[in-house]
Amino acid sequence: MIYLVSACLLGTPCRYDGASRPSAAVLALGERHTLIPVCPECLGGLPTPRPPAERRGDRVINCEGRDVTEEYRLGAEEVLRLARRHGVQGAILKSKSPACGVGRIYDGSFTRRLTDGNGVAAELLLSAGIPVTDEERLFPDEK
Ligand code: SF4
Repeated sequence: MIYLVSACLLGTPCRYDGASRPSAAVLALGERHTLIPVCPECLGGLPTPRPPAERRGDRVINCEGRDVTEEYRLGAEEVLRLARRHGVQGAILKSKSPACGVGRIYDGSFTRRLTDGNGVAAELLLSAGIPVTDEERLFPDEK
């Protein structure tokens, strides 16, 4: 199988704070599958480190009040392009992120509260029919 994976889950220090969030379960998948790291926020042109951002409806706003929706949109489109180019079977993305989150994301208040919804890149992949999950659930066959 070929999966797109949030780069921070594979140890790339691409998070807003310059850290990574390596997942042992996701790294272990690399022994059996081809994992392609992607960071939609970086692919959209945002620097690392960067101010954290959260979704507010259709927009993405950072903690300084700057609208970064366009960067998120560009990054999501690049992730979809890579998914198609490599013919991936799915994507395993970082939970809760405004770009990568699947099903639950931060609610836009910067208070760590969660709400129902998907990150911008996860949403675009799902709308294109590409299966998406996160590191907390993986795909049923991979647990
Ligand atoms: Fe990780 Fe996704 Fe955030 Fe990039 S955009 S740091 S891959 S959660």
